[in-house]
Amino acid sequence: MSPPPTRGGPLRPLDPYADPEETRREDPALRPRNLDEYVGQKRVVDNLRVYVRAARDRGDAMDHVLLCGPPGLGKTSLARIIAEELGVDIRPTSGPVIERSGDLAAILNSLNEREVLFIDEIHRLNRTVEEVLYSAVEDFRVDLMLGQGPGAQSVSMPLPRFTLVGATTRAGLLTRPLRERFQIQFNMDFYEPDELAEIIRRSARRLDLGISEAASVELARRSRGTPRVANRLLRRARDFAHVEGAGSLDTGVIRLTLDRLGIDEVGLDEMDRRILSSIAIKFSGGPVGVDNLSTALGEERDVIEDVYEPYLIRLGLLQRTRQGRIITRRGLTHLGIDLPDEGSSQGSLF
Ligand code: ADP
Repeated sequence: MSPPPTRGGPLRPLDPYADPEETRREDPALRPRNLDEYVGQKRVVDNLRVYVRAARDRGDAMDHVLLCGPPGLGKTSLARIIAEELGVDIRPTSGPVIERSGDLAAILNSLNEREVLFIDEIHRLNRTVEEVLYSAVEDFRVDLMLGQGPGAQSVSMPLPRFTLVGATTRAGLLTRPLRERFQIQFNMDFYEPDELAEIIRRSARRLDLGISEAASVELARRSRGTPRVANRLLRRARDFAHVEGAGSLDTGVIRLTLDRLGIDEVGLDEMDRRILSSIAIKFSGGPVGVDNLSTALGEERDVIEDVYEPYLIRLGLLQRTRQGRIITRRGLTHLGIDLPDEGSSQGSLF
């Protein structure tokens, strides 16, 4: 999943968005290739096994799948695995890349029977393109208007039966008609530390690195529940081990790496802490709207919502309410702000 187009600046160590260079150089070796290699997300994997098997046995295209969840959790990997397990090719593209209906029609036209069309960031498709997709996924047909004005002609082209796999960081941004056209929908969750530790050990083997069990657990605990982050931090630890350590990855090297990158005990970085302290101090604990927060921090609203908030919420440090974001008691404790009265309500904290 790539960052929003408006986003600039260097990649943070904890950034769960894909870095194109990183993807090109090492990702292929680390990506799980089939459902057996895919660690965690047990419910998703178990159900997919059934759907894949059933589609294969029927010799038909599998139903359309929507994968929702924060960046770096394995949506693209899963789309590739679905194609692999179905024994068909995958045609990857992304919402912002398909600018006109004609672009989508051309892609659809090039598909073969039962193939997978993967649209990453599907919530960023524009409306006209999206409407062409409706009939394509529902009736395996493309309806296009050729020309303009009174001479305009409508053409309808039949398509092969294919499987659309859509990925989105926020299901809430999908229009209802589009969302309803996916018969299979999965919400991907952050990984548990033991699952991440397993991914880290597997990646270390692929990168030919020795890592102790304790070191993999320490790294997993501070990797934001996100495989892409875990893999990136593993590479940084490899650098520190090479230059400053004994070469192999032990707990000491992992701690040194994470400290040097400014990543704390629970895996938060500088920006996470700025978000929390801004809500706590500048906005008196909240509630504060995400736009105000974005202005105060100089960070894109989308990035705050897609990247930072889900993990802060998951750790119980921040809450989204109808009125805006508030910092929780646990969030304040994490910042080292002590509260006198255990029983005080959020509204009267300050
Ligand atoms: P997304 O599309 O959700 O942003 P990706 O599928 O590109 O995420 O995953 C990022 C990287 O994380 C992959 O290249 C792979 O190395 C690793 N990864 C993701 N999910 C898993 C998993 N379940 N098991 C092992 N590695 C994973």
